[in-house]
Amino acid sequence: MTIKCVVIGAGPVGALAGLYAARRGWEVEIYDLRPDLRDESTTPLNFTKSINLALSERGVNAIRHSDSPKLLEAILAETIPMHGRMIHGQGKGGELTEFAQQYDVHGRAIQAVDRGDLNARLLDELESLPNVKLRFNHKLTGADFRRRLAWLERRGTSRRQSDDDGARLSGRPGRPEEIEIDFDLILGCDGAHSSVRFHIMKFARVDFAQSYIDTLWCEFNIPPAADDASKTPSAKDGFRTSPNHLHIWPGSDKMFIAIPSVGKSFTSTLFAPAEDFARLEKDPSSVELFFNKNFPGAVDLIGPAAIQSQFKENPHLPLISIKCSPHVFDSSGVILGDAAHAMVPFYGQGMNAGLEDVRVLFSHLDAHNSTKDGRAKALASYNHERVADAHTINNFSLDNFWDMRVGVRSKTALWRKKIEEF
Ligand code: FAD
Repeated sequence: MTIKCVVIGAGPVGALAGLYAARRGWEVEIYDLRPDLRDESTTPLNFTKSINLALSERGVNAIRHSDSPKLLEAILAETIPMHGRMIHGQGKGGELTEFAQQYDVHGRAIQAVDRGDLNARLLDELESLPNVKLRFNHKLTGADFRRRLAWLERRGTSRRQSDDDGARLSGRPGRPEEIEIDFDLILGCDGAHSSVRFHIMKFARVDFAQSYIDTLWCEFNIPPAADDASKTPSAKDGFRTSPNHLHIWPGSDKMFIAIPSVGKSFTSTLFAPAEDFARLEKDPSSVELFFNKNFPGAVDLIGPAAIQSQFKENPHLPLISIKCSPHVFDSSGVILGDAAHAMVPFYGQGMNAGLEDVRVLFSHLDAHNSTKDGRAKALASYNHERVADAHTINNFSLDNFWDMRVGVRSKTALWRKKIEEF
C-alpha cells in the first residue's frame, strides 16, 4: 500500500523530509504558505536577501543519506569551508587585532552556505521526482489527526505550480479558497510558529515551553574587496577578511559575527540586548559610534553610511527557544526542525539538527513495517530517541552564546592557541 505523506513547510527541513519520503516510493504532497523562494521576487520570511548558515557534518550526513548522489556534491560546491573562528579585537595601543582558533585538530571544517541556495537545491531535486507535488501559497489552517484530514487556505498560485491536485474546494467569494486533503502521515516542518504543532496539541498531551532571550539580531553585509577597500591582515582572494573563518567581534553582552559567501561578501549579524537596539533606533546617527566602541574595525569593512542605512532598513528580529514533548501523535503526525525545537543560533545547529531529525525519523520508519501499527511504533521510538537530544542541543545553543561573546577571549582560548602552536 502506498503511504500518502503530507509535508507542511518547504523550508530546508520540509524539503529534505519530502525527499526522504519520495525516495521510499510514498505519494508526497508538500505545502508552504509562501510563494516559491526560487521565484526571483520572493523575499524569504524573516530574512532580507540572504542568510548564510553554518552547515555541519550533522546536516551534511542527513543530506548524504537522501539517496540523491549528485545533490550533496552540488550543495557542497556552493559552500565555503570555515576551519575555525577569527576573533577580532583591539590591542592596548589601539591597533586592530585578529586571532584565529581552529575548530578541529584534524583540520575538518564547517561549511558556510546560503540558506536560500540550499533550500532551492533541495526543492529542485524534489521537483524532479514523479511522486511529488509541490504546492506554494497554501497555509495549513486545521488538521484532524484521527480522521486524517487537513485544511489549507489557497492564496493564488506560484509560477511553477500546476493546478491539478484534485483537492476538495470550499471557496467563499472574496476569501482565500479552502481545500480539504487526506493523509496517512503529516510531517510538520512549518517552523517555530508551527501550525501542525498547534493542532497536534489538541490530540496529544504535549508539554510546551517557549522563551525569548533578551537579544535581538539584525543583518548587515560586508561587500567584496575593491582595490582600495579596507581589509584585515587575513584578507585574501577578493574577500575583505579571511574567507575561511567564522568571524566574531565579541562584546560581553553583545557580539557581531560574519560568515563568508561564495560571492566574496560576508553576511554579518549584530546580536545585542533589546535596550541597545531601542537606543540605536531612537538615534540612528549613533550606530557608527556604537560599532566603533564595541566592534573595532567592523565599520571599516562595511562603510559608515552603509552600516547606518542597513541598521535602519533591515529588520530587528527576536530569538526564540522552544522545547516540547512529544513530537509525535500516534501513526499520523510528527513535527521536525524548528517546529519541534527552535533554538537560538549560537551553536549553529538549528537547521543541522532539523535535517538530522529527518535522517533519524526515517531510520525508525525503515526499521518497522509500513502498516499503521508499524508507523505508530516507529514514531514512538523516534520520539523516545529524539526529544532528549533536541532538548540537549537547545540547551547547548543557549550556553554557547556566552562562549561566543565572552569565552572566545578567555585565557583558556589563549591557552588553546598556545597548545596548537606547540
Ligand atoms: P523554516 O526555515 O522556518 O521553514 C518553515 C517553512 O514552513 C517556511 O517556508 C514557512 O513558510 C512554512 N510555513 C509556516 N507555517 C505554515 C503553515 N501554516 N502552512 C504552510 N506552511 C507554513 N541553523 C544552522 O544549522 N546553522 C546556522 O549557522 C544557523 N544560523 C542562524 C542564524 C540566525 C540569525 C537564525 C535566526 C537562525 C539560524 N539557524 C542556523 C537556524 C535555522 O535558520 C533554522 O533552524 C532553520 O531555518 C529551520 O528550518 P525549518 O525548515 O525547520 O523551518
